[in-house]
Amino acid sequence: MKKVFWEDPYQCSLATRVADVAGNQVLLEETIAYSFSGGQESDKATVNGMPVLDSKMEGHRIYYTLPDGHGLSKGDPVAMEIDWPRRYRLMRLHFAAELVLEIVTQTFHLEKVGAHISESKARIDFIYGEHISSLFEEILAQYNKIIEEDRLIQTGFSDEANQRRFWKIDGFAQVPCGGTHVKSTKEVGFVTLKRSRSGKGIERIEISLP
Ligand SMILES: [Zn+2]
Repeated sequence: MKKVFWEDPYQCSLATRVADVAGNQVLLEETIAYSFSGGQESDKATVNGMPVLDSKMEGHRIYYTLPDGHGLSKGDPVAMEIDWPRRYRLMRLHFAAELVLEIVTQTFHLEKVGAHISESKARIDFIYGEHISSLFEEILAQYNKIIEEDRLIQTGFSDEANQRRFWKIDGFAQVPCGGTHVKSTKEVGFVTLKRSRSGKGIERIEISLP
């Protein structure tokens, strides 16, 4: 199964074929629909106009659950579409979270204990004994600088056989990640940060786009 969302994360429609069918679960030869992984939520997608109800990873394959009576058989041509406004917000918030995490890790050496990216906001949890909002001024100064510099975000395989991916900004960081990434930091844009507490000694940074 070719994962077109890695080669071209901006592609929002795809013509492909059914590779396999098991009841309501369908495997396609290629896909543009990301499946929940690494904290980034799944795309909303359709196959021949039918909603993808669920997706699950088995090894390197993604099986999509379609409604009862989908009528598809192996070899059938299909058209896949994704909800692009949702995917684009997820990509931008995902990378905003990557940048905040990198800055916090490089500058303050805090340990991350969780993260989640939704369409409306991203959050990252850190072990920290004080109010994490005391770090926001420094985090945002570094964050805004890298956005203003409009740095190129490169992606690729670090290990193609095992489908391990990375993103890289020259001189800043190279990080393992199998998510979908925008091309440059200007596309990510400016964000606002908000503190909340998600447990004893665990501080949460919530990241929102304007
Ligand atoms: Zn990523």
